[in-house]
Amino acid sequence: MTERWDLIVIGGGSGGLACAQRAAEHGARAVLAEPGPLGGTCVNVGCVPKKIMFHAAELAHGIADAAGYGFDLELRGHDWRKLQERRDAYVLRLRGIYAESLDRRGVTLLKAGARLEGSGRVTIGAGEHEAPHIVIATGGQPIVPALPGANRGISSDGFFELAKLPASVALVGSGYIAAELSGVFAALGASVTVLVRHDRMLRDFDEMLSFALMKAMRADGIAIIENAVPKAVTKRDEGLFIGLEDGRSAGPFETVIWAVGRRACSDGLGLADVGIATGAQGEIITDLLQDTNMPGIHAVGDATGRETLTPVAIGAGRRLADRLFGGMSDRHLDYRLIPTVIFTHPPIGTVGLSEQEARAAHGDAVEVFRSDFMPLYHGLTERRRRAEMKLVTVGAQQRIVGLHVIGMGADEMLQGFAVALRMGATKRDFDDTVAIHPTSAEEFVTIR
Ligand code: FAD
Ligand code: NDP
Repeated sequence: MTERWDLIVIGGGSGGLACAQRAAEHGARAVLAEPGPLGGTCVNVGCVPKKIMFHAAELAHGIADAAGYGFDLELRGHDWRKLQERRDAYVLRLRGIYAESLDRRGVTLLKAGARLEGSGRVTIGAGEHEAPHIVIATGGQPIVPALPGANRGISSDGFFELAKLPASVALVGSGYIAAELSGVFAALGASVTVLVRHDRMLRDFDEMLSFALMKAMRADGIAIIENAVPKAVTKRDEGLFIGLEDGRSAGPFETVIWAVGRRACSDGLGLADVGIATGAQGEIITDLLQDTNMPGIHAVGDATGRETLTPVAIGAGRRLADRLFGGMSDRHLDYRLIPTVIFTHPPIGTVGLSEQEARAAHGDAVEVFRSDFMPLYHGLTERRRRAEMKLVTVGAQQRIVGLHVIGMGADEMLQGFAVALRMGATKRDFDDTVAIHPTSAEEFVTIR
């Protein structure tokens, strides 16, 4: 027997949960298919457990800094297993909260995988379902390169399963995950090497951030091997070795982690059979309204390969539900000026155009304001990490089109500035704002 719904959501991660719940709030009869743990990547193997590891690393740095503030501490070690257990218990609690929240809103959860069968038709497990609207929110998965011995390495998913801190670890990649996890490992005491394919970390971001981060990483004892293109992973008695295209070899390592990007999780959904257009990495192509090329079939979040961040998946999911069931005919997510934080040590906050992007788009109309200083906190610590900031402006009005910061507190600093940029703030607006002293953030309104 076929069950009929107003909305079928495939995937119970950030985007799917947000969409199903908002649709139900608008009165839609919604069903959500999720074979795995509720919460998807972010809750189970992404933002949440990662942020807990970031906090652990920040505490390790704080303990090291404490002597400068007069504390006489004796550190008797760190219990990775205990941290892992407490972290996993927290994640488990969150999953429970999501299940309750679906229940409270009247969304039906079916714990099985879904497959598209045609226009408006989906199988979930063995059951057949129909709805005028189907939302694909199946997320993404880590890429493991097709190299000999690559399966000797793990991905970020495997990172969360590590039962102990490896003595030595190599991270291959130069994006968010390599940057964040290398900092966690180093702070907790592992010997860390990052293999970067080109000359810098975070090549998609403003150069200032890349080079300041690499300096801070090296100061924390992280080895960065540049122009390192992996060719194979081999295992010897001493550990794992990564052979490089140019003949060099790096190792031995106890653990190798691939952090070379993620691809959309869209295999097995029956996309080709139904005729849904996908890109080179399997990402589902959608327009600004999150519509695919097939009427009644929509997609949100990492499955679309666009700005693969949790608040983007949530924002797109909620707005789509508002449009389909809340009578808001034009509601959609605006993908411009999305702020993002990279939880490195120190953290990075960035929104808008990098200096390079702005110069390519606006040429000589671009003006850049920079600040580079030692945060007051480090005035008393032996470990000293500078902060660097940049404002990128365009035109005679000096409209701010990019704002970038690496330094203590950057993670909590960015959100408000992102609002200002969306509102079209100019350098003059920043100059006219009274500073909050003594903070690092005040540099943004006093920068000259
Ligand atoms: P997901 O959360 O991946 O959910 C997709 C769900 O679909 C999964 O539960 C999956 O089981 C299910 N599914 C797949 N196929 C099917 C099927 N056929 N039928 C039914 N269900 C299916 N973003 C941030 O904003 N901040 C961060 O700090 C951050 N840190 C991260 C750290 C790491 C290590 C990683 C890997 C990612 C991080 N991200 C972060 C990115 C963030 O996790 C993702 O952008 C977000 O989870 C995407 O949500 P989603 O709903 O699109 O997909
Ligand atoms: P990213 O896309 O951030 O970075 C991966 C980088 O690895 C590429 O940019 C590329 O850089 C390099 N690379 C690609 N292929 C290879 C290869 N074969 N060998 C060596 N290096 C390679 O991917 P991540 O896996 O780090 O993270 C995935 C996504 O998850 C992020 O893009 C982000 O959207 C999300 N995320 C968000 C976080 C946050 O918000 N704080 C935290 C973690 C993840 P280059 O071209 O310079 O070599």
